[in-house]
Amino acid sequence: MDVDTQNTTLIQRKIGEYGTANSGPVFFVIGGMHGNEPSGVQASQQVLQELNSSDLELRGQVHFLAGNVAALNQGVRFVDSDLNRMWADDFEERLERCSEYHEKRELSAVVQTICNGRFDNVYALDLHTTSGDTLPFVTIDDALPNRDFAMCTGAPIILGIEEHVHGSVLEFFNEQGATVIGFEGGQHTSEVAVNNHRRVIYSALVYAGLTTWEELFTASIQVKKPEFPSAGEFFEIIHRHALDPNKASFVMNQGYSSFQPVAKGDIVAKNDSRDVRIEKTGFILMPLYQRLGSEGYFLIRKVHSVWLKLSRIVRKMQMHTLLLLLPGVKGKEGGRVLLVNTAIARLFPVQIMHLAGFRRVTEIDHKTLRFTKRRDN
Ligand SMILES: [Zn+2]
Repeated sequence: MDVDTQNTTLIQRKIGEYGTANSGPVFFVIGGMHGNEPSGVQASQQVLQELNSSDLELRGQVHFLAGNVAALNQGVRFVDSDLNRMWADDFEERLERCSEYHEKRELSAVVQTICNGRFDNVYALDLHTTSGDTLPFVTIDDALPNRDFAMCTGAPIILGIEEHVHGSVLEFFNEQGATVIGFEGGQHTSEVAVNNHRRVIYSALVYAGLTTWEELFTASIQVKKPEFPSAGEFFEIIHRHALDPNKASFVMNQGYSSFQPVAKGDIVAKNDSRDVRIEKTGFILMPLYQRLGSEGYFLIRKVHSVWLKLSRIVRKMQMHTLLLLLPGVKGKEGGRVLLVNTAIARLFPVQIMHLAGFRRVTEIDHKTLRFTKRRDN
């Protein structure tokens, strides 16, 4: 059944808040970073209503915020530019005149004011939906606190989004030092997605220590702990099929859904009436079934549990300093940034960088890659 998106009241930036300020964690729930994904806002409104009519006392405060307010009220993904690609430091000046520039300024100002410069006990949950049908999943920047947080959603976890999607709001929260995950709840207008978002909001509040399942039960808030197929399994993005976000010439063939296996060479879409073939064997993620988008699909593969354990040990023991011994690697900013000469870096696999918690963020010039370390405590 479809959810009624023709709500007559306009959506505001601040959907509401609940709990006690100045003690315990600060928790942000953000819905509608993409305006055609109202599900996160609807789930926020529902949870807020349930909290307000309960006598539940939270240890901390939760703030429900709307992402792209103008686009949400128009029911479009964005007005001028994708708000969820504008959070890197180097985003283009020419965007200053676009609607999303103001959305970004206002949203970050709200967050900064609430946190007052302190992000050490801050959690954020960024709620999304997809154009095609999907099982729920989580996207994270691969820092250990984000990994642990992601487990509470009961969904599979996709690592390495920051290497392929530049300037998402996850990046903003990570840079500030918060613990943050993105959660894809299902198809854009499905009631299932709203319900998945609702369950994950409660589970995340429990994880962050604002409440417990017992306290929710005692306060007569009926919610089931989320548990989805492939819960807690980790995947890694191996390819992003990039598109010109302002040009709608990509048409995905019917019948693809996230986590469906695909093989190299499979024809899955048409772009400018030419066949689009799968670049690498793996699983497809977020195939595009709407007119506009920055990518046609992603390809992912499973991450081995040994790699996950090993990377945790490497990071906990601060073994990343050993990377400085590799040829062509130079440290900067107290070891948080590594500059890697690509001519020499071909000699060792990029997985070594990933293992130590460094993710490629930018290409400085043809010869140098800049890797930034994720926070691991
Ligand atoms: Zn989205």
